Amino acid sequence: LNGAEQSFGDTEAQREVRENDRQYVFHSWSAQGAINPLPIAKGEGVRFWDYDGTEYLDFSSQLVNLNLGHQHPGLVKAIQDQAGRLATIQPAMANDVRGELAKRIVEHSFEGARSVFFTNGGADAVEYAVRMARHHTGRQKVLARYRSYHGSTSTAITLTGEPRRWANGTLDAGVVHFHGPYPYRSVFYSETPEQETERALAHLRATIELEGPATIAAIILESVTGTNGILIPTPGYLAGVRALCDEFGILLIADEVMAGFGRTGHWFAFQAFDVHPDLVTFAKGVNSGYVPLGGVVISEAVHQTFDQKPFPGGLTYSGHPLGAAAGVATFDIFEDEGILERVRDLGERVVGPRLREIAEKHPSVGEVRGTGLFWAIELVKDPDTREPLIPFNAAGEAAAPFNAVVAACKQAGLWPFAAGNRLQVAPPLIISEEDLVKGLDIIDEALNVADGYVGE
Ligand code: PLP
Repeated sequence: LNGAEQSFGDTEAQREVRENDRQYVFHSWSAQGAINPLPIAKGEGVRFWDYDGTEYLDFSSQLVNLNLGHQHPGLVKAIQDQAGRLATIQPAMANDVRGELAKRIVEHSFEGARSVFFTNGGADAVEYAVRMARHHTGRQKVLARYRSYHGSTSTAITLTGEPRRWANGTLDAGVVHFHGPYPYRSVFYSETPEQETERALAHLRATIELEGPATIAAIILESVTGTNGILIPTPGYLAGVRALCDEFGILLIADEVMAGFGRTGHWFAFQAFDVHPDLVTFAKGVNSGYVPLGGVVISEAVHQTFDQKPFPGGLTYSGHPLGAAAGVATFDIFEDEGILERVRDLGERVVGPRLREIAEKHPSVGEVRGTGLFWAIELVKDPDTREPLIPFNAAGEAAAPFNAVVAACKQAGLWPFAAGNRLQVAPPLIISEEDLVKGLDIIDEALNVADGYVGE
């Protein structure tokens, strides 16, 4: 269906979409009998519509990938032009947009970046980054944080620091988890962010020493943790991790699949902390998910490892021209529309102050935190004990209060990004100030529902 031509209220079309989906589509992360996906007829900018014409303001950017919004004319045109010119070509042949995109990513990433290996998305970017680190160092173990998400393929799901994701098996024997800083729920009993940094780094050092530094290929972390709570590194933490990596000859992999490409108001989130990783994984925002694309940015040193020795790995669609063309257009659009500057401005001037006001007002809000257009509102049942308002049940499904708050948002026309006991604010980066305020107003109102559960 062409969204632009879609006439709303077409119940026959809606019925068909729903029925084909229910009959034939096997869905992610769900019990198949328990789902009822909303049929979507059309998307435009920060909004999308169902077949009844109900409008939703998208505060989740789909899966935090639609950074430039639905149907951005620059992205659509780049894909159309590329499809008309050369729709696909295999990776071993050089291709103009693939090379141009790799060049622009390298130039905008980190000091010492040399090349890009393209993948189809985030999880395979993580798989390949780890494989490169293992070959480069000759070591096997990889350290990853609890409260992280790195994807659902074998090594990526094992790295992911969230037990409910492990139901499909922890498949990589070389993965060890450690605790990162999280002042609101500090496992180190820290009283200040600085103390949290110091203790988290001491814990990481101890983990490295007890595992045996000579066995550890890499430490992987999300520069700003996304799905698991928008956890901003405490002061000096990332630099401290970098220093530990240098001390023990371990590679630092920054997973920027969600935080990268403008979400925090920087090309990559680590840039705000003046830290240079060895490998960077990216996907999602590289082209707003218009065509599946991800990749690994590779340092000169790691690149050199494979200068004479063949790299064991590859994908048929590595650097697919349609995805790459949309990636090149993304750089142009970011520059033309001043995306990074406006994300920083909206985060500091609009979202931050409003969320702090919301935190003051609602007893169900334990903490708000974030940066750019990447924020979390953490909901609690009791502000003193910090007991989460919205626990998962034994099956890993959200319990009633979660659904009630989400339903209140949807009823008011907002599609929220809800994860665990958090409402997360991650709208497309092109959102107007007016729409941003509109969405925050809806959240403010929906939190009255959450307040009703406090102390219950
Ligand atoms: N890494 C991070 C930080 C992510 O947020 C995600 C997805 O949400 C992934 C990796 C996996 O990406 P994909 O779903 O494209 O495989």
